[in-house]
Amino acid sequence: MTARSVGREELVTVIGLEVHVQLETETKIFCGCPTEPAEGPNENVCPVCLGLPGALPVLNEAAVEAAVKIGKAIDADIPEETRFHRKNYYYPDLPKNFQITQYDEPICADGELEIAVAGERRTVTIERAHLEEDPGSLQHVGGSIDTADYTLVDYNRAGTPLVEIVTAPDFRSPREVRAFLAELEEVLEYLGVFDAGRDGSLRVDANLSIVPATEADDGRIGEATLEAANRTEVKNISSHKGAEKALAYEESRQRNAIERGRAVEQETRHWDESRGITVSMRSKEAEKDYRYFPEADLPPLRVAGWKSEIEIPELPRARRERFAAEYGLSEEAASKLTSRKAVADLYEDVASEFDPGLAATWVADELLGELNYRDMSVAEIEGRLPEVKRLVELVATDEITAKNARETVLRGMLDDGDDPDAIVDREGLGKTGADEVRLAVREAIAENPEAVADYEDGEDGAINFLVGQVMGKTGGSADPGAVNELLIEELGN
Ligand code: ZN
Ligand code: MN
Repeated sequence: MTARSVGREELVTVIGLEVHVQLETETKIFCGCPTEPAEGPNENVCPVCLGLPGALPVLNEAAVEAAVKIGKAIDADIPEETRFHRKNYYYPDLPKNFQITQYDEPICADGELEIAVAGERRTVTIERAHLEEDPGSLQHVGGSIDTADYTLVDYNRAGTPLVEIVTAPDFRSPREVRAFLAELEEVLEYLGVFDAGRDGSLRVDANLSIVPATEADDGRIGEATLEAANRTEVKNISSHKGAEKALAYEESRQRNAIERGRAVEQETRHWDESRGITVSMRSKEAEKDYRYFPEADLPPLRVAGWKSEIEIPELPRARRERFAAEYGLSEEAASKLTSRKAVADLYEDVASEFDPGLAATWVADELLGELNYRDMSVAEIEGRLPEVKRLVELVATDEITAKNARETVLRGMLDDGDDPDAIVDREGLGKTGADEVRLAVREAIAENPEAVADYEDGEDGAINFLVGQVMGKTGGSADPGAVNELLIEELGN
């Protein structure tokens, strides 16, 4: 872009992403080393992932299956045959001095993913998704990448299977990027190929450039415009929140430069999370610098037919829409219940036996709320589905009050790992509890003849007064709605 002074409103932000996703397989992509975190550095290694002379790679079928699942989820083309290439560069975490990746015949091409931003739906084009091996990891000691005293290298991660997802430059704001990454994480988690909780399981590199608004025709930006605008590649982003922050920083850095008539350098910048800034690393390599050539140690892989043979579950967006339609849930409740597959499965299980609205309240609001408060995940109560169902049943059948269910039973289940029935027995919340409420209702009626007379004369306030009396007698533990009903029942006799 020529350096000239322009106003903020005449500019459009253009962002494209390369997302590295760590696949959840038991072993590495080209050897039998485990992918589980090791206790110390350089433990999960062998001649293949250390790149020792003569060691030969053997492709992990589970990694290919995971890539095909991703391809189906993003509606990509999966070719008859796919192939691996060597990407050559020297870096201390890459012992072979090349990375085995894919080049012109990736396993997935031309897909898309729909996102919702501020209530508006957008489709993001995914140009390709390919398989590759992860390099090792570097530990910068005494500072960050540009200030460290020295750096240690750990090859435990070397050879971990990755899928690199490359989008078209379809994003117009850091917020859209965040929405895309959140949706992508949900989809990957549904497919069972990804663990969002694993450190570094999602790593994002983003290209950002600022172009004149006049060049954005119908939201599409021409290749020539993008070529003319210098872009920066921001590396080292490791979460969707981090992506929004890093790109908002980079967006304003570039806009400020352009508004002051300065040129934006084409370069790679490193996101320094702790300092909240991007720092210049090096001028960006061009594709030709990598000297891609076919990986002769791995024959081309025929994947014709894999797409139809490998099945994937219903995806978050479809499930969200079905939950709203089938169970009559609000959009908010449906999206809360479907953001993680384990939660959605739990909900459907409970809703199959009890009122779907009641099930939604207990799973989305009460259970998730209490789990959140304790920093616990749904996975931690996965084996206790019958107990969750029993809790909802206790409320649905009026055996205990909602207040007791929430404050005593649910909390006891999560804090002490107790069974709901055991808590009800121990705390005397069950049948006797209901009897106590009825007893309190009868007492309140006997002690307040004036209020009863007012009620019989049709005065609306009288019943509220009696409810208040009963609540007082039960120490606030009764359910006001149930007390109201009991009062009407008793007063009718
Ligand atoms: Zn190995
Ligand atoms: Mn890559």
